[in-house]
Amino acid sequence: MSAGKVTLVGAGPGAPDLLTVRGERALRDAEAVVYDALASSALLELAPAEALRIDVGRRGHAAAARTQEEINALLVRLAKEGRRVVRLKGGDPFVFGRGGEEVTACQEAGVAVEVVPGISSALAGPAWAGIPVSDRRFGASFAVVTGHKDPTRATAALDWDALARVDTLVVLMGMRNLDEIVEQLLDAGRSAATPAAVVMNATREDARAVVAPLASLPERSRAEELGSPAVIVVGDVVRLHDPAAWRDALPLLGLRVLLTRTEAQAEPWVRALRLAGAEPTVRPMIRIEEIRSEGVERSVAALPSYDGLLLTSANAVRALAGRAAEAGLELSECAPPTWCVGPATAAAARAAGLPVAASPKRTDAEGLLALLDAEGRVQGRRFLLPRAEKGRERLPEGLRAAGAEVDVEAFYRTLSAEPDADELRGALGRREYDAIVFASPSAVRPFCAALDEASRAALAGVRIVALGQVTADALRERDVDPDVVPARAETSALLLALAPGPGSGSAGPGEAPASENGSADR
Ligand code: SAH
Repeated sequence: MSAGKVTLVGAGPGAPDLLTVRGERALRDAEAVVYDALASSALLELAPAEALRIDVGRRGHAAAARTQEEINALLVRLAKEGRRVVRLKGGDPFVFGRGGEEVTACQEAGVAVEVVPGISSALAGPAWAGIPVSDRRFGASFAVVTGHKDPTRATAALDWDALARVDTLVVLMGMRNLDEIVEQLLDAGRSAATPAAVVMNATREDARAVVAPLASLPERSRAEELGSPAVIVVGDVVRLHDPAAWRDALPLLGLRVLLTRTEAQAEPWVRALRLAGAEPTVRPMIRIEEIRSEGVERSVAALPSYDGLLLTSANAVRALAGRAAEAGLELSECAPPTWCVGPATAAAARAAGLPVAASPKRTDAEGLLALLDAEGRVQGRRFLLPRAEKGRERLPEGLRAAGAEVDVEAFYRTLSAEPDADELRGALGRREYDAIVFASPSAVRPFCAALDEASRAALAGVRIVALGQVTADALRERDVDPDVVPARAETSALLLALAPGPGSGSAGPGEAPASENGSADR
């Protein structure tokens, strides 16, 4: 029979990084993803590009795109056709998600089925608002119920007398019946002054909450226009609510960031920005041209004869790997010990099969020099440094001064790439970005050339981040003032530079940037 299988994966409450590690693994391995209305398309992007993606759009009270029976049948069919099917469901699959019915359908059809739990909004909703569902200072019990009235089911028969005695009550799908729910609780003896809250879109960028005494909760949430999806929380624990609790954990929530380097270069930033809650967009203003020259050919052929290979950018790694492949060489077999400046370069080098030795703690030329020196690897040794056409001389000069021989070879050049000027001006005019990141003068030139008066004026409210003084100077020459010039080109420094607050992460004037040629796009 087929090797198909259905994995129910809890997608978590909304923020993409609240997916479990096991859930992520299942998505990366999926051949078909069957999903509901989701807060974040970032989760779907985890699945391989060629995987089927099927929206079965169950959106609360809106008419479902498919009935539950049709969804069950779809899961069974896809699995029987031999696919690894991920059924992606909001929160936890078994918390008011009809996951149980889907499991039963698979079992009855003889289809293998597995469940990956998720973080339920029943817990994450209160937590987002800083409300612990249980806290021994306030009681010892909590209950989660559905407030959705389904006349064909038993939910109409909730035991409100019992629920009124639970310390913390969490109600899902209750917004339509909020008045009735509150009335039932008051009738059953819960005090009108009991602290209560409605938390909407918890962990998403548009999350909101209101806190009010139980009796006035419906009125307050109407006044604030709160609606589905939201969790209702009733109990003394609501006193602890702190709306800043979660937002602090996602420092860049909702921040729209324009990145101007190539897709390949921007990729690690995009990932990190998404995890911090930001919404990155990549519009490449540069392109990398790999150089094919006699010098390049010669140095690739001579790789095994060097004592060490030095790499200062992922671009250099890609160019080297490309030329080696063309020459029919396996880098893992012919490359000498390799040292990298920076974790991103080291990761790219490892992925290319290079034997990466220890990385320096300080991720700049000085750090690398100090490391090699400490290991006694400099005096009398020969190094190859494949890099950009224009690069700083600190590393080769430092090594030569310490008695090494260094062959510097240009493997690529960074060129400006013309953006679609109309489109760029339009996006700036519509204020689609809160921040723009430039990593090299090559990216600054085409950007500034595309500006007209209106789009230039629209830059006033945008946080301009320049990586490296050379990049900052290129902006200033074109009358664009960078707001932040991080001292380092690492992802962590970029995140810091984008965080709200005046000039955070900024290097003092004259402070040397970390990168080889004073910009990050080496
Ligand atoms: N299985 C899901 C719940 C599905 S029922 C889970 O475990 O979270 C849908 C209900 O979940 C919504 O009506 C709402 O009450 C709640 N919900 C889902 N996501 C939410 C969010 N981000 N914020 C607040 N409530 C949410």
